[in-house]
Amino acid sequence: MDRSRTQRRRGARTGWRALVVTAAAVAILAILVGIGLAVAGSGADDDVVRDETDAKEVFEEETDVSIEETVTSAEATRTQSAEIPDLVGRNVGEAEMVLSIAGFAPLLVEVESGGGEAPGTVISMDPPGGSISEHGTEVEVVYAAAAAVTEAAGSRYVVCIDPGHQAQANLDPEPIGPGSSETKEKVRGGTTGKTTGMPEYQTMLEVSLKLKEALEARGVDVVMTRTANDVDISNAERAEVANQAGADLFVRMHADGSNDASVSGCSTLYAAGNTWVQPIEERSKAAAEDVQTALAAKTGAASRGTVPRSDITGFNWARVPAILVESGFMSNPEEDRLLNTPEYQQRVADGIADGVLIYLER
Ligand SMILES: [Zn+2]
Repeated sequence: MDRSRTQRRRGARTGWRALVVTAAAVAILAILVGIGLAVAGSGADDDVVRDETDAKEVFEEETDVSIEETVTSAEATRTQSAEIPDLVGRNVGEAEMVLSIAGFAPLLVEVESGGGEAPGTVISMDPPGGSISEHGTEVEVVYAAAAAVTEAAGSRYVVCIDPGHQAQANLDPEPIGPGSSETKEKVRGGTTGKTTGMPEYQTMLEVSLKLKEALEARGVDVVMTRTANDVDISNAERAEVANQAGADLFVRMHADGSNDASVSGCSTLYAAGNTWVQPIEERSKAAAEDVQTALAAKTGAASRGTVPRSDITGFNWARVPAILVESGFMSNPEEDRLLNTPEYQQRVADGIADGVLIYLER
């Protein structure tokens, strides 16, 4: 493993005199913390109380160590050598302090975390814990760097969101899948709110932008097929945006319409049932199930389940797992009203984001 190393030397080689000074410092710290606690106890400032509580916790941890080490160091004072405490797996700050008190000279070495250790965790020691060494011996303490964890987590998920439709439909034909002679309109007009009069493309853009924020807040990178209504992007082209993004999931946002105003509820469609989508069918189905479950739970909307579809252009051109959320019926007065309130839109976005995260972690 090629680990980058950064060395920080702390504390000179300490003899027994330094040990006594350190012990005295710990005793003074104890007194100060005691005073601090007394002051904090009588104060009303929450921040002060919290700070002092933290200090107390740190002190208690240090106290556990120092009792043990005081015994070791008392022997060490006579023998001028001592057993090096084994500090692998403990925090580097704690290790530094314990070694100093025990009379050794810690040499802190920061390396990239290769084994998933928490930042600041001691990975190895040289000489190792348990060795008997003379006072003042330099002990190399190798610990995991914080930066390495960030790097390891640097490969983030990508989700492509497609707000359905656009201001002007484009009814020109395009193949329903790669190499197909069968065609469908490039982009249909979508539905309109029965009560609100809101066009589906606008309502879905609002929901999609909230979904973008919700996913980004969960650490997911988002690529949008559109962020405005005045665009002309066919369904095949939208799938291509997801393909080019290398998306882990392509989420298409729509609302339903029905001639029966009483029909309501949400459903999630997924790519399935033809040779084009065969490579993505299993993952698409899993994503649809996770999203549908979370969406219905978050919104309280009736769940109409998941639906396999082989006839959707925006699925057939996708090479990444693809789902289409029908977030409610705009032909239903109540769902139309809800879908056009910021509060319900947020619930839809949060529900879908929850489901997407479950899917991504599968
Ligand atoms: Zn639609």
